[in-house]
Amino acid sequence: MIANDSTIKVAIIGAGAAGCFCAANLSRMLQQCNITIYERARRPMAKLAITGGGRCNLTNTFEEITSLSQAYPRGWRLMERLFRQFSPSDTRKWWEDAGVPLVVQPDQCIFPRSQDAMQVVNTLLQIMREANAKILTSTKIEVLPQGFDYIVITTGGNPRIESLSYLSELDLELEPPVPSLFALNVNDSHLQELTGIVVDDCLVSIAGTKFLAQGPLLITHFGMSGPAILRLSSYAARYLAEKDYSVKLIVNWMQGLNEEQVRQELKEYLQSTKQTGNHHPRHLTARHWNYLLKRACISIDKPWNALNKKDVNRLVNVLTADTYLSEGRRQYKAEFVTCGGVSLRSINPNTLALKSHPNIYLAGELLDVDSITGGFNLQAAWTMGYVVAKNIAESQSI
Ligand SMILES: Cc1cc2nc3c(=O)[nH]c(=O)nc-3n(C[C@H](O)[C@H](O)[C@H](O)COP(=O)(O)OP(=O)(O)OC[C@H]3O[C@@H](n4cnc5c(N)ncnc54)[C@H](O)[C@@H]3O)c2cc1C
Repeated sequence: MIANDSTIKVAIIGAGAAGCFCAANLSRMLQQCNITIYERARRPMAKLAITGGGRCNLTNTFEEITSLSQAYPRGWRLMERLFRQFSPSDTRKWWEDAGVPLVVQPDQCIFPRSQDAMQVVNTLLQIMREANAKILTSTKIEVLPQGFDYIVITTGGNPRIESLSYLSELDLELEPPVPSLFALNVNDSHLQELTGIVVDDCLVSIAGTKFLAQGPLLITHFGMSGPAILRLSSYAARYLAEKDYSVKLIVNWMQGLNEEQVRQELKEYLQSTKQTGNHHPRHLTARHWNYLLKRACISIDKPWNALNKKDVNRLVNVLTADTYLSEGRRQYKAEFVTCGGVSLRSINPNTLALKSHPNIYLAGELLDVDSITGGFNLQAAWTMGYVVAKNIAESQSI
């Protein structure tokens, strides 16, 4: 595979976020570098152009992340290691320096100030153009190209295992790919009547497992969505696939308070002569509260001080451990990522080179790394793309 002149020849397969970021950085790090990018679609970075609803949530402050495993259910150890080479703050500086000012939202997600994903795409295209990188679109790679010093594979995620067949010659270990980041169907017509209600802080879990996630929950015409459910779908992606998305969901509508804490909260209410339907915890809307009372078999006309012990027990149970049957999944907007892909056991975790083929590098969602929503997936693509570029450049200077 070694080229016989002094120019280093690099093939990048997949002109997505990781591949193009790798190309842009490599072209700056290695003057004598000839980069060819193969892309099966008609345009490079077509997905990047629609990320974040066209606004591109390109990273996150990570301020609300206490352990990387919260953000990256798969691959957090690898990301921890790679962030030492190119961290989220390096990423922010990189984009600002490249002429893309950023803004931080109150939820810690970071976007271009222009709110336009095309600015991100065009910035990478410009850098690659200046470096004379060749992008061959409408070119699907089925067999790895020959005649290059290095090959970088960045073909992204795909929940169909057949999509990885072009890698068979490399004899890699694969983790079966399954979808992540989705909403769940719950066939409960009374719940669905509450479509559009967002409960700000819920704790959702899957019965009989340790999977749980906290955050806003959105009730939809098909069941449940919102950050808490998407996070749960990410943490439990493989388990949910194994169960064919049919599991018992347990919802704590009281910000994760336990039974005892909720009993304390209700103490004051229980002394009131007001009707249960009219007097309720403020974070729940009247419509939602009445629905929960119905689930606890309590009439909305009943005064609080007339509730007996069994009523209170049922109410506490509904508020802290309301159980639903999930019966399938729904795509969240157009967004999804893949859990699984090439096993991290196949790569050198410092360089992302294949252990079996040191001149072939892998980066991005193709690897068994994926995250919850919030800019973490693109952060992984930037970091891995950069690390590959840096390690190719460094291997040349040895
Ligand atoms: C609608 C949507 C919105 C999203 N929004 C966000 C967001 O706001 N923030 C965030 O962090 N993450 C977001 N994500 C996830 C994020 O886009 C991905 O995690 C990220 O793009 C992965 O980068 P990648 O380079 O690994 O793969 P990709 O960006 O998917 O790039 C892979 C490229 O390889 C090409 N390719 C595949 N196979 C071949 C082949 N055999 N030959 C040649 N080319 C090939 C593909 O056509 C593609 O262009 C979103 C995902 C979707 C679907």
